[in-house]
Amino acid sequence: MPSRSDDGVPRCLLCSMDCPIGAQDDGLGHVSTVFPAELGFDQGACVRGLTAAWVLQAPDRLLVGRMGEEEGAADAVLRDVVRAASRYGGSQTAVLVDVSRPIEGVLATAALCREGGVRLAVWAPPADLPLVKAGLTACPPFGEIADCDLVLAVGDPFSTHPVVAASVRDMQFGARGRRLVSVDTAVGRTGRAADERVAVGPMKLAGFVAALAVECGAQAVASALGGRSGREICAALDIPFERVAGLAARLKGTDKVGVILSNSLGRYSAPTAVAAAVKELSAALGARLWPLLIATNSALLPRLRRRFGATDTEDLIRAAEGGELKVLCVIGCDPSSVLPQRLWRPLVEKPELVFWAGSLRCAFGDAADAVVPLTLPWQEEGTVLSSSGEPARFVAWLP
Ligand code: SF4
Repeated sequence: MPSRSDDGVPRCLLCSMDCPIGAQDDGLGHVSTVFPAELGFDQGACVRGLTAAWVLQAPDRLLVGRMGEEEGAADAVLRDVVRAASRYGGSQTAVLVDVSRPIEGVLATAALCREGGVRLAVWAPPADLPLVKAGLTACPPFGEIADCDLVLAVGDPFSTHPVVAASVRDMQFGARGRRLVSVDTAVGRTGRAADERVAVGPMKLAGFVAALAVECGAQAVASALGGRSGREICAALDIPFERVAGLAARLKGTDKVGVILSNSLGRYSAPTAVAAAVKELSAALGARLWPLLIATNSALLPRLRRRFGATDTEDLIRAAEGGELKVLCVIGCDPSSVLPQRLWRPLVEKPELVFWAGSLRCAFGDAADAVVPLTLPWQEEGTVLSSSGEPARFVAWLP
């Protein structure tokens, strides 16, 4: 698996795995991605990382700035934006910054916002927020998955984090009898590879995991649900109790249990409740838990909230709709790629001046008043929080 210790290597920042990565130029301007073994990557590869170099030549790559209808150099556009924004007070201005950019840039932006009394919001994939809210922001090393006797996968980690699949397969093939149990709302990649599948309706997953946690001895879940037993939770939600009881007996009777939690947007309802119940279930079993965040640095969110009073996109949408927000600067993220139109449109239409900085053209950028091109994250160097929660230095790997 990707090594975490060798700081200063190039890394793919497309997800929280931060795999060591490299680029190879054929001398004719064609750059392709490589995963050199000497960088610490000796197993598996995800197709997103493998095709990342393609973005360099993508037709949507943004290369010049724009103020209104007029194209211009980035520094000239920035000067115009600063001049126009200075007519408004700090409290009427907000900055939305992508959390997956190098930490140094995110912190510098946060410090500037605090100095100018500007509202700061941080963008992270909506799928990460339930895990962050449940305090699940760091994973043990992925190689340790192979030591488990049984792994319980909640959600579909093989789809959200393909490189984790290699460690799980090591566990399954490494010794007879080691098992992968998938609890999910549909049969995904993990379900197809599992030795045992438990299918639960998307609206009932939180109830199923809560009942399982209670049956495994998680007192905190039982108290939060008014002292209900697993059987009572199942009866209230029309979940067959014998499936919960059977799985609880397996888990309690196994020495080394590992739990992998993956959340992809819309796969199940009440994801914060699922994350909280999985956390308590793992603690009650004494199991190792691998919560899989989507974005690198999502673990930074609680610290940004505490230290800089950072809020999130929901807060900005409310401020935009309420008319409090006159100037909005969006740095490094594309709300139109994830949020429905009814949510991102007010962000770009209600303020009087909207500035967007990004690498690839998008609907949000096209609707903004001013735009400047940003380097791709892999053309920068800096620090990210790896999936274990440790800072890892990386260097640029694309020219
Ligand atoms: S798993 Fe994530 S970090 Fe690794 S290559 Fe794929 S997208 Fe990049």
